Amino acid sequence: MAKRPAKKSGTKSAKSAKSTKGTRGTKATRGTKATKHVYFFGKGKAEGDRSMRDVLGGKGAGLAEMTNAGLPVPPGFTISTGVCTIYYQNKGKLTPAVEQEMIANLRKLEQATGDTLGSAEKPLLVSVRSGAKFSMPGMMDTILNLGLNDVAVEGLKKRTQNGRFAYDSYRRFIQMFGSVVLEIPKAEFEHEFEAVKKAKGVKQDPDLDETALREVVERYKKVVKKKTNKDFPQDPLDQLRGSRDAVFRSWQNPRAKEYRRIYSIPDHIGTAVNVQAMVFGNTGDRSGTGVGFTRNPATGAKEFYGEFLINAQGEDVVAGIRTPKPIAELKQVMPTAYKQLRDITTRLEKHYKDVQDFEFTIQDENLYMLQTRNGKRTGYAAVVIATDLVGEKLVTPKDAVLMVEPEALSQLLAPIFDPKEWKALPVATKGLPASPGAASGQVVFTADHAVEWTRQGKKVMLVRKETVPDDIHGMFVAQGILTATGGMTSHAAVVGRQMGKPSVVGAGALEIDERAKTVRVGGATLKEGDWLSFDGLTGEVKVGQVASKPSEILQVVAGEMTPDQSDIYRRFNQLLSWADKYRRLGIRANADQPDQAQIAYNFGARGIGLCRTEHMFFGEGRIPIVQKMILADNEKDRRAALAELLPLQRGDFYGVFKEMHGSPVTIRTIDPPLHEFLPKREDLMVEIAKIEASDKKGKDLDEKKKLLHRVEQLHEFNPMLGHRGVRLGITYPEITEMQARAIMEAACQIAKEGGAVVPEIMIPLVGDVRELADQKAVVTRVADAVMKEQGIKVKYLVGTMIEVPRGAITADEIAREAEFFSFGTNDLTQLTYGFSRDDIGKFLGAYQDRRILEKDPFASLDTTGVGKLVEEGTRKGRATKPNLKVGVCGEHGGDPSSITFFDKVGLDYVSCSPYRVPVARLAAAQAALKSTALD
Ligand code: ADP
Ligand code: MG
Ligand code: MG
Repeated sequence: MAKRPAKKSGTKSAKSAKSTKGTRGTKATRGTKATKHVYFFGKGKAEGDRSMRDVLGGKGAGLAEMTNAGLPVPPGFTISTGVCTIYYQNKGKLTPAVEQEMIANLRKLEQATGDTLGSAEKPLLVSVRSGAKFSMPGMMDTILNLGLNDVAVEGLKKRTQNGRFAYDSYRRFIQMFGSVVLEIPKAEFEHEFEAVKKAKGVKQDPDLDETALREVVERYKKVVKKKTNKDFPQDPLDQLRGSRDAVFRSWQNPRAKEYRRIYSIPDHIGTAVNVQAMVFGNTGDRSGTGVGFTRNPATGAKEFYGEFLINAQGEDVVAGIRTPKPIAELKQVMPTAYKQLRDITTRLEKHYKDVQDFEFTIQDENLYMLQTRNGKRTGYAAVVIATDLVGEKLVTPKDAVLMVEPEALSQLLAPIFDPKEWKALPVATKGLPASPGAASGQVVFTADHAVEWTRQGKKVMLVRKETVPDDIHGMFVAQGILTATGGMTSHAAVVGRQMGKPSVVGAGALEIDERAKTVRVGGATLKEGDWLSFDGLTGEVKVGQVASKPSEILQVVAGEMTPDQSDIYRRFNQLLSWADKYRRLGIRANADQPDQAQIAYNFGARGIGLCRTEHMFFGEGRIPIVQKMILADNEKDRRAALAELLPLQRGDFYGVFKEMHGSPVTIRTIDPPLHEFLPKREDLMVEIAKIEASDKKGKDLDEKKKLLHRVEQLHEFNPMLGHRGVRLGITYPEITEMQARAIMEAACQIAKEGGAVVPEIMIPLVGDVRELADQKAVVTRVADAVMKEQGIKVKYLVGTMIEVPRGAITADEIAREAEFFSFGTNDLTQLTYGFSRDDIGKFLGAYQDRRILEKDPFASLDTTGVGKLVEEGTRKGRATKPNLKVGVCGEHGGDPSSITFFDKVGLDYVSCSPYRVPVARLAAAQAALKSTALD
């Protein structure tokens, strides 16, 4: 593992200074010169490039980069993200400077194409496309064919000799502009469209002829007039400004906001607008449109992957209206365009050194590239692709470590079905395997129901004809997403993969009646609430509930499979061992039992950061002994009960030490209030009443009454702030004694057997150094006695949890007694914010809706407040003891963004749940790599 460099935060190496310039130079120049707002691309040259995603958005940067590389990209210009900010600052108006720049670029575009906006002879048509720095699928619908009006459509017809095409383009434009800019419900247009189709007896869209489409256009215009009291705008500049502003407005629409919230994308960065000359995939059978990936985004396999539609435009492929064809078929239909597409996308992958997700259109056999970006992928595919790219020498192991989202690794641990149980059910239908994972749940038909039912503790399966961006909240909570239409690149598929949510799409045999809330599948009719299961890796759908089992990786970790039986395990392991080379933070696990410790160790944890001794009290047959201890009304009886617990605890500790093979094990002395080990007051009262009602009074009744009395004695108004943690040890030192003895006897036993062992005894909830001093004295006294009895010396440490704000504030004093610190960030968050972690659910939603909190502070560390205590506590502790070992053992220890913070403030390790260890290893490596890049 890389050693943490000495703390000289001011120093900059020449190399890192240069890299700062590379990534930030563009922004700096924005402020100084007269600000440039619009960037042109076309004729092999663009004003921007791939490094300018902040300014141009991802799509704009990609179009610029492809143009510069000489690829066939229709020309256009990008209105920068800065203009989006201006739009909001000026309450929806843009400055004359921006307007002028836009017009100047429009003229440039007219020159480049030889066409003119609104012309009756050679009309220029453009698309208006949104594009933020981070792709946000479905933020806004793209507007195509802008520039068409009653005159220009005739120009288009004359020029192409294709009236059907001209009017198809016009009706599409009115529909898109009407719904996106004028906010007329899409259904209003669809209704008219269906009516014409029906009147003409036509099934497929392409079968409508020019006359029919002219009628559609007339009907659409009437819809616009009726809904807005205005005619459809005929001035192309009005159309352009309206569309541009709609893109800026879409930045703040609810689904965009929800998307940003889920993916932690900042609100202030804004979106760019791309205006681009149209090319047409809908001119006839020699044209088409499609999307694809340079590798399979679900499995990571190195295969050309994608879909296309002949005689179609724009979103037709992704919208799931017509089911597209696999891209391999393009080879037969248009071999030249296919070969060119393969060559270009292979080049793009090499250029970007990552899988590309691309969009293209073929107009009369000529290929045009419309978009390229690094492809979203499942966690499974991410690991396969990263390790393959290293194998192909396209990227270094360090790049590979940076390529995989830490969270993706937890997807790889997602359950799979038990093959036997799964095979026992007949296949009801099959869809496209869009995102892997085994999903089983109760059918719901709306996103709102998905959320509602999940709140009630149910597992749901979201079943939809096709998903739309408005469904995102329901998709987020569902076990799986199943759609009847749409391809591998439909909304459901893309979002499902990104969320790591098992998804099967385009299961065409499903007959969904969304109004009646039923779905017919494989001869059965399911109602809402019925069970349905599918395998996202194969696309098989079955009726019924199926139990799942651990993923391959978990099976290897548990020793049920060998590493060489599992390709994905080997890749996973390879990636993590690369990560280990770069991380500075040590990774430990929170584990209380030997079997958990074993899993943690196999996942790569080197140490236990938190062993909760009280969890052992809940072990089989132990609760009665614990209760005996609690019920004792004198020290002697209490000691007798503790003596019974001693060998049990010793056994637990021995097991955990053994599984850690000499890595340090931090054991916390008893923490929770004692009433947690006793039955509930209400339950006892009911039992007592029952016994009294029967005739079997006697000993049993007396015992219950005694118990009730003790429960009432132990009752606290605020148990979280009550008699717990170090306070218990101070009032009942014999508990600390027993635990210290159990720990040290187990350690001595290991040492005698020749094993390595490093016990770290941790006192919880310390806010005052004198609390720690008191308990430390007990621990050392017992430890010395045990080592003397056993005739062997074991190195051990006594330290404390820092989880009370006063503890963090007086960390310099506490460090006089403590040999290590471990930040208990759960309690520290609870006590710093004053939010009860068990009750925050009641108001967290409202806090997030109002943007008072971005994230749940118990899931992701509040770095500005709680983090300050961690940072200051660490600094103060080390001021007293420079080599003080400092770690964190709250839930945050497994959260990537919190890990970044812990790395920054110089902790020695993070500790998290065993299953989060892989995520933490990767996140720690990325934190170290990214921080050195920024230094
Ligand atoms: P999204 O961000 O939702 O993917 P895009 O801006 O990429 O939206 O547009 C969606 C689709 O519209 C593209 O994949 C392409 O098929 C079509 N499209 C956009 N601009 C043009 C254009 N200038 N010519 C032809 N088709 C276009
Ligand atoms: Mg696109
Ligand atoms: Mg605590």
